Amino acid sequence: MTAIAVEAPILVAQTRVVRVRELGESYLRLVLAGPDLSRWSRDVVDPGTVRDAYIKVFVPPPGGRGIVPDPLAIREWLTLPEQERGWMRTYTVRRADSVELDGEHVPALTVDVVVHPGADEGPGSGWARSVRPGDTVHLAGPGRGHAPWAAWAPGAAGRVVCAGDETAAPALLSIAGELAAEPRGTREVRIVLELPTPADVRALSAEAPETVTLLSRSGERGHALVHHLGGVLGVGQGCVESVLDGRRPAEREWQTATTVSAGDPYVFLAGEAGLVRAMRRLAVDGAGIPKGAVSFMGYWRRGAAES
Ligand SMILES: Cc1cc2nc3c(=O)[nH]c(=O)nc-3n(C[C@H](O)[C@H](O)[C@H](O)COP(=O)(O)OP(=O)(O)OC[C@H]3O[C@@H](n4cnc5c(N)ncnc54)[C@H](O)[C@@H]3O)c2cc1C
Repeated sequence: MTAIAVEAPILVAQTRVVRVRELGESYLRLVLAGPDLSRWSRDVVDPGTVRDAYIKVFVPPPGGRGIVPDPLAIREWLTLPEQERGWMRTYTVRRADSVELDGEHVPALTVDVVVHPGADEGPGSGWARSVRPGDTVHLAGPGRGHAPWAAWAPGAAGRVVCAGDETAAPALLSIAGELAAEPRGTREVRIVLELPTPADVRALSAEAPETVTLLSRSGERGHALVHHLGGVLGVGQGCVESVLDGRRPAEREWQTATTVSAGDPYVFLAGEAGLVRAMRRLAVDGAGIPKGAVSFMGYWRRGAAES
């Protein structure tokens, strides 16, 4: 059979959970594999290509199978009752490789899911805690011949600064791995992550190159991260306090957008939406980094479920 060079832009793959393991205190690492993934974008399923590529996971309702959507009719699927259809949640591909499944070598994607049990637990976190090897899970991603869903775009930046919370760890550790493989001196790299507990820091430090600083949360969510980022960007304490208070720092006016050119800095920020806004203000208003050289992604929003 001849392989098709270009598939549909969005494909739904049926996969099987092949491994589940705890990673630190806050993550479950799931490996999801299946032959359908070989029709996906090579930039997602080929080893060593993942960076911050993300996929959609169709989370079934508890005790049910959910309804697998037609990728061309996701809007209609979203109008169905959640308890029937289930939910769609977004996770980053931490690693792409292959495994043997039913005597066949098939692509396998690893995702690290943050579990946040308690009153605020969402379907994604609950599903990750209940899923077992052998379970079926449907995923959506870009078809072969299409670009990965990702935001990483450092161009020829001479200095790269990345910061994020625990949900951004899969993306930032993949990015750190890719940058570590560049010839020494290509760029100056600083990557900072705030993780919920010291056990998470210990677990992820085994995978973090020396450019990565892992902070254990202390005090309010995001404060350790913003303080550390302020130091990396060389902005004053007053500026850090302003952005943590939800204000725009007074030192500098808003910058106009530019594109990243050789030698410029590039800043990549991801995590809880309010925290990302504070870090963007620190970088753009505080440190004067051109707005066009900052990628920022609110990965989740405090008090709001992913739609
Ligand atoms: C591009 C992209 C990549 C992402 N990659 C990852 C990833 O690799 N791993 C990962 O774990 N997440 C990742 N996320 C974030 C993840 O999609 C959200 O956290 C999502 O809301 C989790 O769904 P849920 O069903 O558990 O909670 P929801 O039903 O969406 O939310 C229920 C409640 O939980 C709160 N909540 C949601 N997430 C968290 C959290 N992490 N900690 C504490 N409270 C939370 C919400 O504010 C809400 O009050 C990514 C998001 C995006 C957009």
